Amino acid sequence: MRRFEYIKPTSVQEAVKFLADHPDEAMVMAGGTALVVMIDQGVLRPDYVVDLGGLSDLQGQDSSNETLHLGALTTVRTLERDPQIKERFGVLAEAASQVASVRIRNVATIGGTVSYGEPQTDIPAALIALNATATVVGTEGSRDVAVEDFFLGPYETVLEPGEIVTRVGVPAPSPRTGGCHMKFTIGSPENKPVANASVVLRLDSSGRCEEARIVMGAVGPIPLLATKAAAILKGEVLNETAFAAAAAKAAEESDPVDDLRGPAWYKRRIIRVLVERGLTWALSRAAAQSQ
Ligand SMILES: Cc1cc2nc3c(=O)[nH]c(=O)nc-3n(C[C@H](O)[C@H](O)[C@H](O)COP(=O)(O)OP(=O)(O)OC[C@H]3O[C@@H](n4cnc5c(N)ncnc54)[C@H](O)[C@@H]3O)c2cc1C
Repeated sequence: MRRFEYIKPTSVQEAVKFLADHPDEAMVMAGGTALVVMIDQGVLRPDYVVDLGGLSDLQGQDSSNETLHLGALTTVRTLERDPQIKERFGVLAEAASQVASVRIRNVATIGGTVSYGEPQTDIPAALIALNATATVVGTEGSRDVAVEDFFLGPYETVLEPGEIVTRVGVPAPSPRTGGCHMKFTIGSPENKPVANASVVLRLDSSGRCEEARIVMGAVGPIPLLATKAAAILKGEVLNETAFAAAAAKAAEESDPVDDLRGPAWYKRRIIRVLVERGLTWALSRAAAQSQ
C-alpha cells in the first residue's frame, strides 16, 4: 500500500481546517471499509488520511424535536440493532441488516455510506424514504441537505472539498406509517445489490394513502425517488391492483445499466418485483400501526 500520513483530529474545526488546507492531498476516513480498499488498490492516492474516529461530536444519537439525530460515526450495526431505531425507523434498521456482513456492519458508518455516493448501496435509499437530512460542516459553517438532494452522480455528492458530514437527522414518522426495505443480490446475500427498494407508506384515518415514498437503489446513477409511481398511490385505497400499477411505473422510472450484476432489462424486472413486494409489506405494517 502506498504510504500516507495518518492524521487524527480531536475537533470538527481542526478536521475541516486541515482538509481545507490540503484539498487535493487529504482524504477523510470513517469506518474505512471503502476508503482503505481503494487506497490499497491504488484507486486513491492521498498524502494524508484524516481519521474522524476521535471526534466525539460525530458520535451518539439524540431524539429531541421529533427528529432522531445520528452522529456520522454511528455504525451500520447500531442502525440494525438499536431498539429505538428498530421500533420507530424500521425501514432503516431493515436496510442496515442487509448490508454486507456483520464484520463490515460493525465498522461502516452512516456518514461514510452517505458520503461515499456509491450507487449500489442500501442505507441512503432508506434515509431518502424517511425524508432524512444530512448536516454538512466546513470552514465556512454548516448546512443541512436533504439526503434526496445529496447525490449528483456515481461517487459524486454535494460535498465541497473540505466539508464533512457530521450527523444525519431522521424525522419521526407520523402514526399509520409503515416501511420496508427489499434487496436482491446474486451469489451471496452479503453482496452488493442488483437492485433494492425502500418504501414508506403513510395512511390517513380512513386507510387511504396519504403519502408514498418509493426509493430505488442500484438502478440508476444515484438512488432514485419514483415520484410518478408514488403519485399513482396517493389518495387511493391500497390494494394489489394499485401496487402492481405503481411497481410497473417505478420500473419505467428506473434507469439501470448493463454491468456484472446483470443486464438493464433484468434489473427493471427485479425492481418491479421489489417495489410491489415492498409496498405490500409496508401497507401491512402501516395498517398494524393504525390498530
Ligand atoms: C465487501 C463489501 C460489501 C458491501 N456491501 C454493501 C451493501 O450491500 N450495501 C451497502 O449499503 N453497503 C455495502 N458495503 C459498504 C459500502 O460499500 C461502504 O464500504 C461503506 O458504506 C463506507 O462506510 P465507511 O464508514 O467505512 O466509509 P469510509 O470507507 O471511511 O469512507 C468512504 C468514503 O466516504 C468519505 N467519508 C466517510 N465519512 C465521511 C464523513 N463523515 N464526511 C465526509 N466524507 C466522509 C471518505 O472520504 C470516502 O470517500 C459493502 C462494503 C464491502 C467492503
